[in-house]
Amino acid sequence: MSPAATVALVFCESYEDEAAVLAAVARGFDLLGGAGRFFQPGEQIVLKPNMLSPDTPDKNVSPHPAVFRGVIKALQAAGVQLTYGDSPGFGKPSAVARRMGLSRVADECGVPLADFEEAETVSFPEGHFVKQFDIAKGVLAADGLVSVAKFKTHGMMRITGAIKNQFGCVPGARKAGFHARMSDEDKFARMLVDLNLLLKPRFCVMDGIVAMQGNGPRNGDPYPLKALLFSNDMAALDATMARIIQLDPRLSSVFRYAQEWGLGETQDIEYVGEPLERFIVNPAEFKANREPAPTTVVGGFLETFLKQYVVARPYIEEDKCVRCGNCVHACPSTPKAVNWHDGDRTKAPSYHYEDCIRCYCCQELCPFDAVQVETPPLGKFLNRLRL
Ligand code: SF4
Ligand code: SF4
Repeated sequence: MSPAATVALVFCESYEDEAAVLAAVARGFDLLGGAGRFFQPGEQIVLKPNMLSPDTPDKNVSPHPAVFRGVIKALQAAGVQLTYGDSPGFGKPSAVARRMGLSRVADECGVPLADFEEAETVSFPEGHFVKQFDIAKGVLAADGLVSVAKFKTHGMMRITGAIKNQFGCVPGARKAGFHARMSDEDKFARMLVDLNLLLKPRFCVMDGIVAMQGNGPRNGDPYPLKALLFSNDMAALDATMARIIQLDPRLSSVFRYAQEWGLGETQDIEYVGEPLERFIVNPAEFKANREPAPTTVVGGFLETFLKQYVVARPYIEEDKCVRCGNCVHACPSTPKAVNWHDGDRTKAPSYHYEDCIRCYCCQELCPFDAVQVETPPLGKFLNRLRL
């Protein structure tokens, strides 16, 4: 019996030689039978690059412009009509795309920006956990979606790759509402899988030429993985990420729900192109949140206690903080769990951990790597008992 999913793995040394990057992207499509296997000429496809924040390509937060160009070229060669966009955590999509170098590539290739600011409410009765989403009009206007993801770590979800990338199809502040309601990793994972079941991404190209490890998804360190990943199965791609960084898949509920709810395949995966072993990293060199979530420790009891004393929590390194207020603005909790002390902006904001839902939006969106995450001693002790 043939494997349930196929992932193409392609080696690419760096971004310096754009022709080599374009050739590597084209090879990834070819290994899976060519773009024409997944798209019809004349179809309207929206590209969804990960555009988290207004950072330049050297910050390594988004797919590199050369990879983006490669995806555009491959799809245009198949006769597909393209738009692109995302709803960043901060800033207008047009400004973020410009800063990331993506709008220049899109303009040169004749790919317009889609509307990721206005949304329409979409009913989803088939949803296992979420029955309704507000989706960007630019996504709804397209025949299909291609996820252009970045290989990065994430505080709450451990990794941010193919599946989580689609969260940017929920525009602006509506994302914060989900963070507030889906206040732990398990609920958030269920929401993400439902969202992907609704959107049915047609294909994903993941840029891991330089991956991000450590304090991702915005302030992590570069890791020269030298890999591009391709698949029409979002779950298989993320499961491949986990295999590459040797992350225990039990640590992320995304894998469980993606498999159980039929989003894709996390185990029976065939690799074409380079062998998977070529890219597997030493976990000591590729830092990621490898601590279990509290619900996997004791099954969801004593939530308040667990959040206080077991779950990894954010804190601010005062000397790195420039008092920009992004963390305060990003916090979806009511009342704000990170805020100015008596409105005093001469000091770094401080945390009220009893109000904190551990969504790590503050860590995700701090532009200056000032927000770090640490597991309290009791959490570390329990984690050692379990694993
Ligand atoms: S911790 Fe980061 S986001 Fe928050 S005020 Fe300081 S620099 Fe800005
Ligand atoms: S303080 Fe940070 S982790 Fe806590 S709820 Fe606010 S944004 Fe989320």
